[in-house]
Amino acid sequence: MKTVTPTTTRTMVVYLLHLRRKLAHSQHYIGFTEHLDKRLTDHLCGQGARFMEVCFERKIEWRLARAWQGAGREFERKLKRRHGAASICPLCSGKAALRRAVFNEGRKAR
Ligand SMILES: [Zn+2]
Repeated sequence: MKTVTPTTTRTMVVYLLHLRRKLAHSQHYIGFTEHLDKRLTDHLCGQGARFMEVCFERKIEWRLARAWQGAGREFERKLKRRHGAASICPLCSGKAALRRAVFNEGRKAR
């Protein structure tokens, strides 16, 4: 097992988008970026991810539900494997979701 130590100050962000209605049985999109603002702007135009492209085509509204600053791809994969984004989405589960995601605390880049 290799330990990766962050050596740069780039801000990696894992983000969770909440869709107004379901698309392909999912009401959430989890993504990873180093430029959140740009990435969200891309998604608004239907760019950046196939899933968001379809959202755009079907005019499904969405909003940023949550963002984990300093979280990397490993965390993104972990969230995607959990298959129950609603349980960590504040818009779906309120404060309970925020408590559930505490498992990320030890992983934040310093
Ligand atoms: Zn949600």
